[in-house]
Amino acid sequence: MPRSAVLGLPRIGPDRELKFALEAYWAAGTGETELLETARALRAANWKRAAAAGIDVIPCGDFSLYDHVLDTAWALGAIPSRFGALDRRSLADYFVLARGGDEHRPLEMTKWFDTNYHYLVPELEPGMEFDLRADHWTGPLAEATELGIAVRPVVLGPLSFLLLSKGLDRPLDALDDLVPVYVQLLAELAAAGATEVQVDEPCLALDRTAAELAAFAKAWPALAEAVDGLDLCLATYFAGLDPEVLGQVAALAPAELHLDLVRAPGQLAPALTALADAPTRLSLGVIDGRNVWAADADLALDRIDTAVAALGEERVTIAPSCSLLHVPHEAAREDGIDPEVRPWLAFCVEKLVELEVLRRAATPDADRDVLLSAARAITSSRRTSSHTNDPAVRERAGALAAGDYERPAPFPERRARQAERLGLPELPTTTIGSYPQTDAIRAARRDLREGRLDPAAYEDFIRSQVDEVVAFQEEVGLDVLVHGEPERNDMVEYFGQQLAGFAFSANGWVQSYGSRCVKPPILFGDVSRPAAMTVDWWRYAQSRTEKPMKGMLTGPVTILQWSFVRDDQPRAETCTQIALAIQDEVLDLEAAGAAIVQVDEAALREGLPLRAAARDDYVRWAVDCFRLATAPARAETQIHTHMCYSEFNEMIEHIIRLDADVLSIEASRSGMEVLDAFVDGVSYPNEIGPGVYDIHSPRVPSVGEIEELLELAERRIGRERLWVNPDCGLKTRRWEEVRPALANMVAAANRRRAAIGVA
Ligand code: GLN
Ligand code: ZN
Repeated sequence: MPRSAVLGLPRIGPDRELKFALEAYWAAGTGETELLETARALRAANWKRAAAAGIDVIPCGDFSLYDHVLDTAWALGAIPSRFGALDRRSLADYFVLARGGDEHRPLEMTKWFDTNYHYLVPELEPGMEFDLRADHWTGPLAEATELGIAVRPVVLGPLSFLLLSKGLDRPLDALDDLVPVYVQLLAELAAAGATEVQVDEPCLALDRTAAELAAFAKAWPALAEAVDGLDLCLATYFAGLDPEVLGQVAALAPAELHLDLVRAPGQLAPALTALADAPTRLSLGVIDGRNVWAADADLALDRIDTAVAALGEERVTIAPSCSLLHVPHEAAREDGIDPEVRPWLAFCVEKLVELEVLRRAATPDADRDVLLSAARAITSSRRTSSHTNDPAVRERAGALAAGDYERPAPFPERRARQAERLGLPELPTTTIGSYPQTDAIRAARRDLREGRLDPAAYEDFIRSQVDEVVAFQEEVGLDVLVHGEPERNDMVEYFGQQLAGFAFSANGWVQSYGSRCVKPPILFGDVSRPAAMTVDWWRYAQSRTEKPMKGMLTGPVTILQWSFVRDDQPRAETCTQIALAIQDEVLDLEAAGAAIVQVDEAALREGLPLRAAARDDYVRWAVDCFRLATAPARAETQIHTHMCYSEFNEMIEHIIRLDADVLSIEASRSGMEVLDAFVDGVSYPNEIGPGVYDIHSPRVPSVGEIEELLELAERRIGRERLWVNPDCGLKTRRWEEVRPALANMVAAANRRRAAIGVA
């Protein structure tokens, strides 16, 4: 019969035990034993849970105290020389790579493919000598053996390890040096009792050159032949293998190949063809490891049946699409979620149960109607619910026409009318929205939540915060003010809580990096806006000043991107619904008198699909959704947008198509070089505020250095279209830093205004 497998399990624990143990250890510098004990207990609990659920293949070595890419670098001895001599048995030294030390900047961190998990980027050096320490895997292997649970070690493969690293011009040239170290690792794992090893090669599923594929094909046999009788499962996920790649992989005849059939169901048919005559077992990633929805069991079984028919049941494994690291622990605990919606959810614990149901249903002569009845009831409840089918929302989205995506006048005309209405000076100064989230603000929020503060008293408190932020901005001389966002904790949560179609878990945490976890809103239904969300606060803030007060909204793509999104319709459709809800808010702000509305799209770029072929479609609908949210604003209403990153090179034409009147971006750390993307080739026509103050650092920039950045920006963009603002919101900074930094920013703008043109 087919077997079931899990590629990886959540690390942080049902109640974020790992987070608290790590933070206690870091804070005190002691408690190593407690931390290691917590980690050991979490691993054991994971294995026992999976074993109790009946899972046949259970992972080990996927657990990490910080990050599995860091673990791999640490185990391989890929430690950059700038860290000097580190003791690889020392936990404290391990954390130096992750978090930095007195004299060391940590390894850079970046997003793990298109997830919200971040890994540490290994820094390789030419001629680096690798040197194996396998205890990251052999330790847990021994623990599991002690518990009587058979496990399969999970290793990040050499191709992906090298491609995810930086520092080498031709990273795959290092395969020759690295493969022997992997061979040694596999030998040690076999010696420690492993009979199978999962070799993760997610990079194989991205756009790969023929040379890269050839390098992989050359490296693989050495791994596969490392130990007689040790089976390797080549695991890919997050995207699909192209038919040619499937052919090449089949020729390598791995013992098992895992495919992500949730993200890329189209690869099943070519995979079955390619593997027809290979000995390879196919692992079908049919349960979504990236999302929180109960599986459509019949759809999954269709795929399983197809594979069993082609390969035979002994050559089929049933699995989640990828590691379950990216889903929270257990949905059943979420008793705060609408009882109609909660059964639609499957976190890790529920997905383990689903796997077992599928495995049983896939056995010959299984009574599927009995086995699947619960799953089918959930699928049908979700499909027919009024939450997922709001006729008013559907009618409105269905009636959209091309004109709904167009501002009422072209930019030059809007610009003239806005200039007349606003009367701003040259180089207008503003901020991105948030001001410091102080302890007092956090305490007030907590007191409100826990009932120590009544809503009226909380609102009084927030009003006092707005008063302070407005008074400060007046005093320091900013031109366009904001209310400071004291009432918002997480911006997506703030909007999600006021929109129909979103649910919030109490415990739905997933790891973002190290001990940091996020709890994304769950977008389960048709989205609409029952009532205005920000207008009262805007109106209050505007009443405290004569200067223009920006309305401050989060954009549809960002709300989509930072939520767990329903999977029963295309993301573009869901995003359109959000866009219409935001549009309602833009129009209400405008009607209340707002002359400027900012719609932040911090996550526009990170939504870019992993495979190039899918990107055009994404940017088309993502940009359309922003346009839809802002289009009906009158010509004299100035629409701002903000994006806090600085890689615009391939994006510029799409950024232009957003047609925001003013765009603020992160620019200070690149010394304004990011602006080159806005002037080379197709140049950006609208107004732009490149950040002149790096808000990621507590450092206060001097007037002189801001002035210099402004001058660099003027050279590139010209003074007429330039705004002056920080890189991003100020919520993570302290007032002691923000006050002088913004005073310096205004002073620098004044000096540039006084300067005659560009020197
Ligand atoms: N308006 C938001 C703020 O200032 C924007 C945050 C963001 O783009 N990440 O905090
Ligand atoms: Zn930002």
